[in-house]
Amino acid sequence: MKVRTKNNEETKKVALDLAKKITSGTILCLYGELGAGKTTFTQGLAEYFGIKRIISPTFVLIRQYPLKNFKLSTFFHIDLYRLDNIEEIKNLGIEEIMADKNNFVVIEWADKMNELLPKKRIDIYFKYLSDEEREIEINDNF
Ligand code: ADP
Ligand code: MG
Repeated sequence: MKVRTKNNEETKKVALDLAKKITSGTILCLYGELGAGKTTFTQGLAEYFGIKRIISPTFVLIRQYPLKNFKLSTFFHIDLYRLDNIEEIKNLGIEEIMADKNNFVVIEWADKMNELLPKKRIDIYFKYLSDEEREIEINDNF
């Protein structure tokens, strides 16, 4: 599915509509250059789960939020922008986080851990079109 959004709110709405359809543990892999809208999209997912505000995990790479009133127990927001060594993925326990079906996992810059991504995942590509316009392409490999 490919859509165009004209502002942040539309991008968040695309995220929210996707989140609604997800009932089990899922790995969402977000791709696209800086400013393409990955964090804005993640904000939309978080809003669906009732998380008030997400803090960009740029410096710590992983932030987690407990979920209440959902089948899933934890929302993980991972940002690999500053990952410089694939070994770090192992040290951070990202594979274990992804393996736990109770987790909803969102990974910005997922291409940085390409070979370690599970086959079962949803890939989402973000493209900058103009100041306020973005293209979002959602592919699920299920
Ligand atoms: P990334 O995480 O991919 O680096 P961000 O979501 O942090 O991107 O930043 C996107 C920037 O672009 C924000 O400043 C946001 O306000 C702006 N923006 C403008 N139009 C859109 C849109 N249609 N969708 C998402 N973000 C948009
Ligand atoms: Mg970001």
